[in-house]
Amino acid sequence: MSHLLITGASQLLTLRGRVPRRGKALSDLGILRNGALLIRDGVIAAVGTRSEIESLPESRSAEKIDVGGRVVLPGFADSHTHLIHAASRAEEYELKIAGASYEEIARKGGGILNSVKKLRAATADALKKRAHAALREFAAHGTTTLEAKSGYGLDVASELKILRLHKELSAEQPLEIVSTFLGAHVVPPEYRRKRAGAEQYIALLTDKLIPEVAAEKLAEFCDVFCDRGAFSRKDSKKILEAGKKSGLAPRVHAEQLTRTGATQLAVQLGAASCDHLEQVSKADIRALAKSNTVATLLPGCDFHLGLKRYAPARALIDAGAIVALATDYNPGTSPTMSMPMILSLACTQLRMSPAEAIAAATINAAYSLRREKQIGSLETGKQADIAIFEVEDYREIPYYFGVNKCWMTVKKGRPVFQKAHT
Ligand SMILES: [Zn+2]
Repeated sequence: MSHLLITGASQLLTLRGRVPRRGKALSDLGILRNGALLIRDGVIAAVGTRSEIESLPESRSAEKIDVGGRVVLPGFADSHTHLIHAASRAEEYELKIAGASYEEIARKGGGILNSVKKLRAATADALKKRAHAALREFAAHGTTTLEAKSGYGLDVASELKILRLHKELSAEQPLEIVSTFLGAHVVPPEYRRKRAGAEQYIALLTDKLIPEVAAEKLAEFCDVFCDRGAFSRKDSKKILEAGKKSGLAPRVHAEQLTRTGATQLAVQLGAASCDHLEQVSKADIRALAKSNTVATLLPGCDFHLGLKRYAPARALIDAGAIVALATDYNPGTSPTMSMPMILSLACTQLRMSPAEAIAAATINAAYSLRREKQIGSLETGKQADIAIFEVEDYREIPYYFGVNKCWMTVKKGRPVFQKAHT
């Protein structure tokens, strides 16, 4: 049996209490001053003040980490990423800054299809190497669990290649990867050229790929990009229902570029999460507030694209929707692995308080991944997934931006990142 004692926290954010967090409860961090926790075999055995925890008999023989007045909180659960891709799209970034429209970039061979072409040509080894480097960055910014979507393959072999990499990466490095099948990202080029190509591609997803993904246990969730230039609400319903039939819970890319009604569809289908939401209507907000579908906001995407319209976080929180935050790490619209940067954007652009942003990135995000019993808070019996920040007050986590204040990241009781020279 191994014991680890983490002690000397100026603030220990437990996030204990009701799950999920709605409305005012979103800002309840359950803060312990001068806090400590005892970990037994990767699981939290006790949480309390320093004197309470240090006086436990097991603490005497435990390996000890004194965090020296820093802030301790649950590791971030990044509930929306496109982890596996072959290359950056820096050339499009430059074109966008110069004023090129989405359509112009697509005509020049850019956009999602650019990433699809590069992924299909990439070897599994090259993709894995890139993903390992990204995962080290996620860990270095306090993330301990992340969701990862397929969706840059868009043919049977390439989609399965991505999903199998999720599984291999889970075994090869410490962060937990929650796999989502996003075969319905866009219609692939070879089907665009055919008459009724979109219908044929949807049939490939519903009749072949989804059952195969489920049978091989390669994903827990099925996602659809329901928007202009991607899939209609009707097609999305067909795909998500096929996913549900195979045991894959729905997640939806909803109301990002245009309002399609994807949010209402997500609520109807009991989706785990409904993501983006820049264009939601008042009725959509009311529907989310009455549901258990998490509203996952991705402000990194609007920031990177230089867009002015962010999702209406305040209206969502005040109505009682379950709000989560994620990076949307992807090469086209949100190339970041930094949850602290997302918290900064949530505070300044979405007008969320620092406390709300932290709860949205931990316990509510864990709920959206259906892992709220294992992660998302620091409570007895939960996994010891912990981020330690080099600050004295939790509000300084979003307050600093563009610098990494993460000091240590612990996954299942084992340090997986430690800042050098401190
Ligand atoms: Zn996305």
